[in-house]
Amino acid sequence: GRPGCECNTCFSGANCSLRSPNCTADANSGNPMFLEPYWTRHAAASAVVVSGWHRLSYRTTDGLFQSVELENHIRRLHGAVGNAVVDDKRLVFGAGSTQLINALVHALSSPPDDGSAPASVVATVPYYPPYKEQTGMFDGRKYRWDGTTDTWANATTHHNSTTKNKTIIEFVTSPNNPDAVLHRPVLASSAAIVDHAYYWPHFTHIPAPADEDVMLFTMTKLSGHAGSRLGYKTWALIRDEKVAKRAYEYVQSNTMGASRDTQLRMLGVVKVMLANLHGDEDIFAFGHDVMRSRWRRLSAVVSRSRRVSLQEIPPQFCNYFKRIREPSPAYAWVKCEREEDEDCYEALLKANIITRSGVGYGASSRYTRVSLLKSDDDFDVLMERVTDLVNAEQYEA
Ligand code: PMP
Repeated sequence: GRPGCECNTCFSGANCSLRSPNCTADANSGNPMFLEPYWTRHAAASAVVVSGWHRLSYRTTDGLFQSVELENHIRRLHGAVGNAVVDDKRLVFGAGSTQLINALVHALSSPPDDGSAPASVVATVPYYPPYKEQTGMFDGRKYRWDGTTDTWANATTHHNSTTKNKTIIEFVTSPNNPDAVLHRPVLASSAAIVDHAYYWPHFTHIPAPADEDVMLFTMTKLSGHAGSRLGYKTWALIRDEKVAKRAYEYVQSNTMGASRDTQLRMLGVVKVMLANLHGDEDIFAFGHDVMRSRWRRLSAVVSRSRRVSLQEIPPQFCNYFKRIREPSPAYAWVKCEREEDEDCYEALLKANIITRSGVGYGASSRYTRVSLLKSDDDFDVLMERVTDLVNAEQYEA
């Protein structure tokens, strides 16, 4: 049994320790439970106790909404991992990525009443669905969701009237959710928001520190603290002072700076990660080990299949580990190869595997996303169902 498990159709009873045979494997959510064993080993060092009198104020003792101490530790972590250039950037905290998605789109759009056309917000297929959902929720005078980059690429190279004087805000995810590809902005004239949620050595090699003008990071996929929603657990690194100020103002007016408690908890978590870098308890070595072994196991089984295939990821040199590392993506981007499996999500559901259809990512229904981030128990059930699916091919004509 696991301390923080969510019981589902596969696991019931005390601590979800009872396993039901032949249950449906749920590989839909990107819930980062693979990191739970790390934190159970560091339970005492990462624990935070908050007394009732503590942190009543809207602001920290410096009169700010953001903890300077947490900010400094996050800067140190980026420096030590070598995954982002922080010295010339401002840091803006948010409650979760969805809040910062809105804050950054707001900050990059022109101010109200300046007479300019609404900014077009775009992304490249397959893209993380909240970019469209969140932007669409606030479609209005200053910005709107305006489709995918393939339709804009031609227009911007010809510099025709549709793109002249138009602000284009491009979401880029690197490495990408769902397929783990490292991406750069594709539209030359866009203001890019580069989401580096997975740009940590658990999930990808680190070729060089990222240095885009606007970058997004989150604790969710770094430490695994997805549940700490009401606090500063997501941050943007922003080069331009004015853009940073507008993003900061958005968060301030949206949630009045949110939870000081969570900042304290995240500070404890970052301190533990920093103290263990390159030692026996390095969280990235742990994370990479788990994710690499999952990818190996899944690839080995799927390589025997003619029905389903996975994206290909080569081993690459990593500047953090200082060696060539094997792939360890957060998700498998599965393609159904057979003519009749046009809806890959449905095909896998029939094999008792719940996935997330490629359609939400702007991609074809031939693709579906399989999360590899959940607990060991969940992954074991997934492997059983995938193995059954692949073995069944042998008995077919
Ligand atoms: N960005 C991307 C591309 C993601 O896939 C995820 C997690 N699914 C997040 C951000 C995490 O968001 P949050 O910080 O709101 O948990």
